[in-house]
Amino acid sequence: MPDSPRLDPWGRGQVEDYPRLVEAFGIESFPPLLPGVAKPMRYMARGVIFGHRDYARVIEAMRARGPFGVISGFMPSGRAHLGAKMVMEEIVWHQRMGGDATVAIADMEAHAVRGVSWEKCREWGVSEYILSLIALGLKPKNARVYFQSENRQVQDLAFELAKEANYSEMKAIYGFTGETTLAHMLCPAVQAADILAPQLPGNGGPRLLVVPVGVDQDPHIRLTRDMAARMDPLIVEHHQKKVVVRSRKGRISLKEIIDFLEAVAEKIEKEPPPVEIQQSFSDQRIETFRGSILEQLDAIKKIRFTAHEQHIEFQPRTAGVIEAIVGVYNRYEGGYNFLPPAGLYHRFMSGLTGGKMSSSVPESHIALSEPPKDAEAKVLKARTGGRATEEEQRRLGGEPGKCAVYELMQFHLDDDKALGEMHDLCVGGRRLCGACKKWAAGEMRGIMEEHREKREEARGRLDEFGVKAPRS
Ligand code: SF4
Repeated sequence: MPDSPRLDPWGRGQVEDYPRLVEAFGIESFPPLLPGVAKPMRYMARGVIFGHRDYARVIEAMRARGPFGVISGFMPSGRAHLGAKMVMEEIVWHQRMGGDATVAIADMEAHAVRGVSWEKCREWGVSEYILSLIALGLKPKNARVYFQSENRQVQDLAFELAKEANYSEMKAIYGFTGETTLAHMLCPAVQAADILAPQLPGNGGPRLLVVPVGVDQDPHIRLTRDMAARMDPLIVEHHQKKVVVRSRKGRISLKEIIDFLEAVAEKIEKEPPPVEIQQSFSDQRIETFRGSILEQLDAIKKIRFTAHEQHIEFQPRTAGVIEAIVGVYNRYEGGYNFLPPAGLYHRFMSGLTGGKMSSSVPESHIALSEPPKDAEAKVLKARTGGRATEEEQRRLGGEPGKCAVYELMQFHLDDDKALGEMHDLCVGGRRLCGACKKWAAGEMRGIMEEHREKREEARGRLDEFGVKAPRS
């Protein structure tokens, strides 16, 4: 039997066999969701985003203009390259679609895992990542940008989350050994806190959040989804034909839930619920909570349910009532009501020179802050899918599926028509690689020049995002 594939969030970001990965980790395929996305972004339409967890609920929130957000992070351990640009564009796209945006600069992780000094973390965090994000269109309204080391709320939540995981689990997920430092072991909890903190009271309360990332980050998403559920005494699970309520503390009966809620209802008739409880609901659920808790109680008594030893099952149409009731229960019992985050996964670009992209081989990648003429030169030297001779290429056509230049344009050229022409000229043998690369290198130079100009403008806008420029 072949070995199971492994995803290493601190590795080199490469995957050989995407279908096998989808199967091995239960990642859902993205293309069936595409028709439901009103204005799909480039990476969705071109199949670069290939997988997800729970993204259908985010599409529904976008469609219904319900509350949702996007969160992702960047480890400032060197120059940001085109892979980071993909995540940045996905954040900006979700913000344009109506979501709030949270961006974590993972300086604690860079310091713990890569040994980057705090000064360099600060410098690279701003100059390599935040400037490019602003240049790519991040808007200050509904955006939160922070460094992990400066965010006490995230650090405190990480500590609480860390109480819910043990070494055996970390070892199984990440392959930690006796050599792994404690600071490194803490990183998954800090990342989970980055992802869940936007749902804290005062940060918008519980709502759907999507985390767009390279698929190597899926272990973090799986762990965070599990941890989100571990923070509450009662958990609601959505299945195709039923909604299930489970208790983390062992068996709980429906009667116990109803008794508890009657006590809460009696209490809030006399005095309004504590502010932190009100804040821990999204707008829609606050309305449910404020306006009709007694009605909800009547409703829950009438709902058909099936009680089992460890859980209670309800019909799916009752999901709204059940979520509201369980939410009230959890919050009064010291829980958080976190909704499990959705994951959105893209493929990685291969290296320009063939094989893997590597930060130690400058020719294999393009950094967002490098001079446009250097990026142009790298494209001119890139590996192509051309045939051995001119005659063969004219007769058989080139192979764009094996060509790093085509892949580069597929990921980063906005113009669908020009990309289609590139493909057709290639496979029809009507354009040779030399001319094609020259054209693509010019396009890449244009993309980089525009980005460079916008980065310069962004320097004067850091304070709109509450970010201080590093000392030069
Ligand atoms: S013609 Fe262009 S797309 Fe086709 S293999 Fe050559 S460089 Fe790649």
